[in-house]
Amino acid sequence: MYDFIVVGAGSAGAHTAYFLARYGAKVAVVEQYAVGAGGSGAAGAFISPRIGKGGPIQRWTNEAFRYCIDFYKDSPNFYPTGLLRLPKDGEDFSKTIMDVKYKPKDGGFFFPQAGVLKAKSHLEALLKDIDVIYTKAYPKFGNGVVEVAGRKAKHLILATGAWDELLDVKYLRIDKTSGVRFDLRSDLALPYSIHKKVSISANLDGIVSIGATHQRLDSPSRPQPPSMLFEEAKKMVGEFSYEIEQMYCGVRSSVNDHLPIVGELASELPKIKSFKNFDFGQIPKRNVSIIGGFGGRGFVFGPFVGDMLAKHLIHNEPIPKELDVDRYVVRYLKKGRV
Ligand SMILES: Cc1cc2nc3c(=O)[nH]c(=O)nc-3n(C[C@H](O)[C@H](O)[C@H](O)COP(=O)(O)OP(=O)(O)OC[C@H]3O[C@@H](n4cnc5c(N)ncnc54)[C@H](O)[C@@H]3O)c2cc1C
Repeated sequence: MYDFIVVGAGSAGAHTAYFLARYGAKVAVVEQYAVGAGGSGAAGAFISPRIGKGGPIQRWTNEAFRYCIDFYKDSPNFYPTGLLRLPKDGEDFSKTIMDVKYKPKDGGFFFPQAGVLKAKSHLEALLKDIDVIYTKAYPKFGNGVVEVAGRKAKHLILATGAWDELLDVKYLRIDKTSGVRFDLRSDLALPYSIHKKVSISANLDGIVSIGATHQRLDSPSRPQPPSMLFEEAKKMVGEFSYEIEQMYCGVRSSVNDHLPIVGELASELPKIKSFKNFDFGQIPKRNVSIIGGFGGRGFVFGPFVGDMLAKHLIHNEPIPKELDVDRYVVRYLKKGRV
């Protein structure tokens, strides 16, 4: 009997499993393909803060950024290359609020703590002492216990990214955006990583990563061609020679307010008379949690939100309302639709 079974070995699942185990829980991870097989394996895994005017997405991204920089600092898989964020065409930085360490540079912001993570190696290192079972999960529930792949646990955690078939609640919709990134063998030697319309990494052992295209899976518009990445990269750094080492495709998940979702799912929808000062504690819960909706910042949010969920499940620490999946219960009850 495990305390927790986590479905999905991407950034969300691996970080959650790692923190649960660190706090003493008995954890197994069930993954249908391989560690980092989903969006997490496609990510260029640039670790960078967010530019903005101080709204919730920027606040939480940068809180997660500060947390993850500290978490990654001793990892051999993190390369603190620094990152220069330049304004995209038409983007105005004049009202930008910046709550992380930076230096003004070339009309943009240089973040000395930002960098690039070797994502797959990092996830494998997190899971090295955790049982990982490779099979597709079809959870069965009964008597307060969940059974997956012949293993039992008290609690199930869905960290399935853009795969939403195990998500059986009507109040939440997962949006999916596909993207492409290339690893290029090149002698282009940038002193730091750069992000404008696309991201270009500093040269790590002869490899430069460029990413990523964006295409919402339900959008009727034409996908951005992968060649866009090369055209934009050349506009940013000039002509350079390269050989394509590897191309990665993946799908990332988000919800409509573009903040992560984390916490236990509702067992039923409560009847709410007044939403004024509504306490999420009134929503009845079952033994299933969700973590995800990291959008394009899976490795910035992964450690921060994974630790948050582990502390909530083990030490009963509260989840901030802006990130709690319960906000979608309330929105659904208010609007009568997702
Ligand atoms: C091209 C691209 C570039 C990106 N660049 C960056 C970047 O530079 N920086 C950054 O921080 N983020 C980046 N991201 C975003 C980041 O990759 C995602 O936000 C993050 O990987 C999401 O992690 P996840 O664990 O939620 O999902 P995933 O990584 O997709 O993991 C979900 C896992 O669940 C498994 N699974 C699903 N259903 C089941 C089932 N029934 N049984 C068993 N296993 C199951 C899947 O196989 C998968 O391994 C990028 C994404 C893409 C696609």
